[in-house]
Amino acid sequence: MKRLTFLCAVLAAFFTASCTKPTPDVVPPVPSYESGEKAGHITYQLLIYSFADSDGDRIGDFNGITSRLDYLDALGVSAIWLSPAHPADSYHGYDVQDYAAVSPKYGTEADFKRLIDAAHAKGIKVYMDYVLNHTGKGNVWFADAKRGEASDKFDWFLFSANPSADVTAGKFPMLNGYNAGEWHDVTVGEIGYTGRLHFKVDFSSASKTLTVTKTDAAAQAANTDASVSMFLWVGEPGKAVRMYRTGTDVYEITLDVDTPWGVLVRTSDTSWDGGTKWGAPNGKNVLAFGTPLTLSTDDAQDILFGSPKPMKFQGAFGSWMPDLNYGPVATAASSGPFKALAETADKWMGLGVDGFRLDAVKHIYSNERGPQNPAFLKLWYDRCNATYRKTHADDLYMVGEVWMDYNAVAPYYQGLPACFEFDFWERLKWVLDTGTGCYFAKDLIGYRQKYASVRPDAIAATKLTNHDETRAASVLGRSLPKLKQAAAMLLTAEGEPYIYQGEELGYWGKDGDDGGRDEMVRTPIVWDKAATAATGDLSGHIDNTLVTDEISVEKQKADANSLLQTYFAFTKARNTCPALATGKMSRHAVYNESNTLQSGVAVWYMTASSGAKALVVHNVGKSEVTLAFDDDLSRPVVTLGEMSVRGKDLTLGANSSAVFQQ
Ligand code: MG
Repeated sequence: MKRLTFLCAVLAAFFTASCTKPTPDVVPPVPSYESGEKAGHITYQLLIYSFADSDGDRIGDFNGITSRLDYLDALGVSAIWLSPAHPADSYHGYDVQDYAAVSPKYGTEADFKRLIDAAHAKGIKVYMDYVLNHTGKGNVWFADAKRGEASDKFDWFLFSANPSADVTAGKFPMLNGYNAGEWHDVTVGEIGYTGRLHFKVDFSSASKTLTVTKTDAAAQAANTDASVSMFLWVGEPGKAVRMYRTGTDVYEITLDVDTPWGVLVRTSDTSWDGGTKWGAPNGKNVLAFGTPLTLSTDDAQDILFGSPKPMKFQGAFGSWMPDLNYGPVATAASSGPFKALAETADKWMGLGVDGFRLDAVKHIYSNERGPQNPAFLKLWYDRCNATYRKTHADDLYMVGEVWMDYNAVAPYYQGLPACFEFDFWERLKWVLDTGTGCYFAKDLIGYRQKYASVRPDAIAATKLTNHDETRAASVLGRSLPKLKQAAAMLLTAEGEPYIYQGEELGYWGKDGDDGGRDEMVRTPIVWDKAATAATGDLSGHIDNTLVTDEISVEKQKADANSLLQTYFAFTKARNTCPALATGKMSRHAVYNESNTLQSGVAVWYMTASSGAKALVVHNVGKSEVTLAFDDDLSRPVVTLGEMSVRGKDLTLGANSSAVFQQ
């Protein structure tokens, strides 16, 4: 209740301090809500490594997030999207080593479970970031695959000795064409082997052979029958294993082997006499599984499981991120990596994870505008949702990163219930930069109509920027009025909005594509003292002008005019005003794209399925405007900047906003 009282005071202060007081008969309603009753579907994008540190190593962790859930609750978020939680080679985590584990830097699985449970207790869902397009070079599957064709994971990745020829020949259905820049050098194959194998030595004919096959049959202990003189030499030097006689001059055994060099066949476990040693003919000493290898006593070369050779692998994001190979989309769901990834997703859903954000989904199949990716994503969604629905009455949440224009995004709704709407920010920054608001509602409505033509209940995941983009504050010239209005427009538009860590505090920074560095848009939250911020995992690239006590959460909480207070006010309005929470946008009859005399205002209605309706007005222009309305201006929900109502006239200052219940 303390938190609630604080927020009410914030809203009251907001109305009295920041706005011209409305007409005397208007009493701004102060909406209220309790934890777990946040209707506005607001998600907070959180970087585990730089959000909050709990153990003093200056690396963000699960317990740090748990300790700051009150802040996220006060901010009105009903879900958090965590950056990849798995062990990874990089600080950012998008090069996963093991999807079935959590990074020890962030804590234990028990810590993760505590975070999930504590978040749920506050009505906050937890979404994991899943990377389906690629793994990391240190991935356990990739390490196995590099053993070559001896590995059952060899075809989980795209290896080729001659990419150009293989792609032309259609060997890789995932690739739309040969891309030389995305193939990287790797040495594939090893002479040894680790795994369960069946060995069969056949001396029943003149041609003595050894046949080795992979098997799931039970491994056997070495034969102890001293009458049998047939041994495998495998693994450590001198390690002889007596085989079983299964026919006249036929010997077999199933073993778990871990050999760094290969195998030999001997008729004695002690003698080094050449007559007892059977190996491979010179130059033919690499065995093929399932194919009899003719043994030789003359050369008796070590029989090897493979021969390392230079190859290339596909990695669209660089040499440290090998792409996964799901094969043709028609059979993708039965591919090894699909099934293995799904099992790990099952594990996390079993732990309580509520949904997934999918990384880079337009890159999974190379033709980003073709039908393959949406079809693949439907397979993935259905597979995960089947697990989720075993324990939930509703459907699983899943949102895809499809970084394209809305027309190209729309087909992806065939596979996913939600996609990020990158065009929202592209349009909004133009609106705020030019002070032209009259087209905004029409544009957004058009985007949603396009999505709805594919999926009637499509969720537009709206946002300003994310961890891969130059910060909103840098784009908007660190203008506090514009940043406040960007927040107000995000939180009063149709969709399910995301707030990116630090955005609510006005953090700035240019990303690597804009002449900065990616780390500079991933700066740690300064909670109170900069000295405790989670700066430790950002490769040393910290913008120290941001990491100061002055921009801390503590300071902005105490400042009635801070950007953070605008976020508090508008997230609260979205959570408590049904029309804002779930409403659909519609055009205003007067103030719309045709009214270019009032081009500086963006006006729309939000209407919920219950019929609840709100009028939303933003003056993005550079000067005050007075607008005449036939609408009800007597019940303001939330306002920003300078606002006054006189009868049917609404006056809004520059970069000011108001929402009225209808
Ligand atoms: Mg830590």
